[in-house]
Amino acid sequence: MKEAKYIKGATTLAQAPSDLPIFLLLGRSNVGKSSFINALTNRKNLAKTSGTPGKTIVLNYYLINNEFYLVDAPGYGYAKRAKSVKDDFIIMIENILIYHPKIVSVLLLIDFKVGPTNDDIEIYEFLLSLNLNVIVVATKMDKISSTRRYKQTNVIKEKIYNPPYFYAVSSANNINVSNVRKELLERIRNYETS
Ligand code: GDP
Repeated sequence: MKEAKYIKGATTLAQAPSDLPIFLLLGRSNVGKSSFINALTNRKNLAKTSGTPGKTIVLNYYLINNEFYLVDAPGYGYAKRAKSVKDDFIIMIENILIYHPKIVSVLLLIDFKVGPTNDDIEIYEFLLSLNLNVIVVATKMDKISSTRRYKQTNVIKEKIYNPPYFYAVSSANNINVSNVRKELLERIRNYETS
C-alpha cells in the first residue's frame, strides 16, 4: 500500500464517497481496529487508536493507492451508548452494507484471545445473510503463546462456522498483516478486471 491518506469522515450515507471500491472494517470497540489499519498501511498514526468512544457515528475513509478505500466503521457494542444512538449505528451500517455499490469485502475483526463474542457472531450472521464476502481477522494474536495458537484458531473458527477467509494477526508484532494486505490487493485487482 504505497499511498494512504485520510479523506473524510462521513456521518450520512449521502456524504460517503462511492467513486471507488471499498473494504469495510467492522469490529467491536477496542478490538484493535485502528492499530490494524495502521499496521496494514504501514503508517504510525493514520488511524487514531481509540480513546473514549464519541457519540457521533462516523465512517472514516482512507484512500489507498488512489484505487480503493479502507472504511473504518465505529466499534460496535458500546454499553455506554444511548439506545437511540446504537440504533442509528445499526441503521447506518445496514444502509451502507445494502446500498453501497462497490463493497469488495467486509473485514470483521474479532479478538483472538477473547474469541467471537455474541455481538461478533450476530454481525457475522448478518453479513452472511446479505451474501457479503467476509474476511475474518482475529487481532492481538501475540497475546496467546505460540504453542496455544493452533488450538485457539480452531476454537474460534468453529464458533463462526469455519469461515473460508480467516487470518490471525498481531499488529503489535506485525504477524500475518502482510498476508491480509496481499489478500486485499489481490481482491482489488480481481475486482477491477471483473
Ligand atoms: P480500536 O478501538 O478497535 O481501534 O482498538 P485500538 O487499535 O485502539 O486498540 C485497542 C487496544 O489494544 C490498545 O491498547 C492497543 O495498543 C491494543 N492492541 C491493538 N493491537 C494489538 C496487538 O496486535 N497486540 C496487542 N498486544 N495489543 C494490541
